[in-house]
Amino acid sequence: GELTVDLDDGRGATGAPSGAGQVGLGALLPYLRPHLRVFVAVSVLSVATATGMLAQPMLIRSVLDGLHLGTPVGGLLLTLVLLLLFAGAASAVRDYLLHRTGEGVVLSVRQQLAARMLRLPMYEYDRRRTGDLLARLSSDTTLLRSVVTGGLMELLSGVVVLFGAVGMMLMLDPLLFAVTVLGLTGAVGAVAVAQRIQGASTAAQEKLGEMTSATERAVSGIRTVRAARAEERETREISRSATGAYRAGLRIARLRAFVGPLMTSAVQVASLIVLGVGGSRVAAGAMSIGDLVAFVALLFLMMMPILQAVGAYADLQTGLGALRRIEEVLSLREETADDRPTTPAPGGTVRHPAAGPPAAVEFDGVTFGYSAADPVLREVSFRVPHGSRCALVGPSGGGKSTTLALMERFYDVDRGAVRVDGVDVRDLPRAELRGRIGYVEQDAPVLAGSVRENLLIATPEADDEALMAALRAAHLTELVERSPAGLDAPVGESGVLLSGGQRQRLALARTLLTGAPILLLDEPTSNLDARSEHALRLAIDAVAEQRTLLVVAHRLATVVDADQIVVFDEGRVVAAGGHDELTRDSPLYHELAAHQLLVR
Ligand code: ADP
Repeated sequence: GELTVDLDDGRGATGAPSGAGQVGLGALLPYLRPHLRVFVAVSVLSVATATGMLAQPMLIRSVLDGLHLGTPVGGLLLTLVLLLLFAGAASAVRDYLLHRTGEGVVLSVRQQLAARMLRLPMYEYDRRRTGDLLARLSSDTTLLRSVVTGGLMELLSGVVVLFGAVGMMLMLDPLLFAVTVLGLTGAVGAVAVAQRIQGASTAAQEKLGEMTSATERAVSGIRTVRAARAEERETREISRSATGAYRAGLRIARLRAFVGPLMTSAVQVASLIVLGVGGSRVAAGAMSIGDLVAFVALLFLMMMPILQAVGAYADLQTGLGALRRIEEVLSLREETADDRPTTPAPGGTVRHPAAGPPAAVEFDGVTFGYSAADPVLREVSFRVPHGSRCALVGPSGGGKSTTLALMERFYDVDRGAVRVDGVDVRDLPRAELRGRIGYVEQDAPVLAGSVRENLLIATPEADDEALMAALRAAHLTELVERSPAGLDAPVGESGVLLSGGQRQRLALARTLLTGAPILLLDEPTSNLDARSEHALRLAIDAVAEQRTLLVVAHRLATVVDADQIVVFDEGRVVAAGGHDELTRDSPLYHELAAHQLLVR
């Protein structure tokens, strides 16, 4: 997608899995670049604020020395007040701009993350926890904001004030300054401690991800958890991750706790030195009272931004820890990264040499495994002619659902080829491939929301009339007629308000709207009552009209109606043909039919 292009360059090592190495400030640049103008404005305002702060000790010095010598100081005092007002106003504008930018950065990172999270290759979802992805999108991005709003600019104005103060102190009394610096060496230790916060912060975020995952798992399976009386165990699981986050938080707190006092004592030592050495220089007449007071004020002025900057540095390290987790997801390729940009010309389609017209779907010696070591499909071959019905049957775990997934190209085959309309699915852009295929999953082929939302997912432009027609064809009008909300009737989280048969019929209605010429259907294994079963059958018939239908079949009626039955066992096609033929020739099919396994 276009969102990703500018991020893919120059990111290099930051794409490493979390836990590997530290992320530098450079990793932030791509996110800050679009806000360059604001940062320039903020920098100018920061410098202005800093200059205003630096001018104060010098004005105070002039006031003190003027009072001492008896010259009028009214004008100086007025200037001082104006300067304070100006510095305050500049810092208010600066803060607003910064926070606006921070929100802007968070927004664009969230948009990029969301876009990427929905486009990852299927195997990424197989090996990731949903909750961890959620945590990255919500909480890690929030941490990133504080880098922009606090960290960076505090560092910048800190640098300005620091250099200004140092310059002025050198000007006032170089000797005294040299002695002061000795007292400040403790500050170096503080920075070293702050550096270690990044690692602790990543650990804290990882635990937070685990906690969200564990919660998501328990809540989405709440019935199982209750029925198994596993509330306490699941709560403990969540609590363990929360405790992990707590520990990492404590580590951060300890590190931060060190940083403050280290800095403060460095300042205290330095100011004692200044008072002692400076006092004796005043007594000796080498500097004025005004000089000494200004010097002490400058020392504090210098230390305040350093203190802030060390805190800001800690924020920065926290944010960079979060950025590392964000980058880890953003560096993953999108599923469609290997799609060719254009549809191949019709003349360029590859036809299978063995037969005349291309089949709607063809498996040609397909071998596939979710992990390389252990193939789930071995040398699977079959053809489904246009307009025909094909049933996939066999013991569970045989690879039937996987076969459907390969047609949608959720995964790529290891060997052989899957062809749709004679074209290798790897030669079609995925969007086009999936446009040709309607897919009805087995368990929860609906999303949380209303009936209308579920119907409109694939065809957002369809009007109510079309929706009602699809519901009628799918024998599902009872759903909207029963409810006063009509099409806006809720289906519940994953369709829990619907029966298994209704969920499938709703998904079939959705497919009817898309007009995809090929339909893949993973029949529900749950027992449907006779009426539900009948309604589902009518819905399937409506959808199958003028279409090619591939069904993972668990019901005798589906199987008997099929033009072709393909029997799977342990990843292989062990037989294929019509019902009568297979009953006669295939012992496995005979056994399945005899035990009525097909009508589970
Ligand atoms: P069927 O539909 O015939 O019951 P499946 O295609 O669902 O069989 O499963 C075939 C094998 O692949 C099973 O051993 C199953 O555990 C495994 N499998 C299915 N989906 C995945 C997945 N996403 N990741 C890893 N293994 C999987």
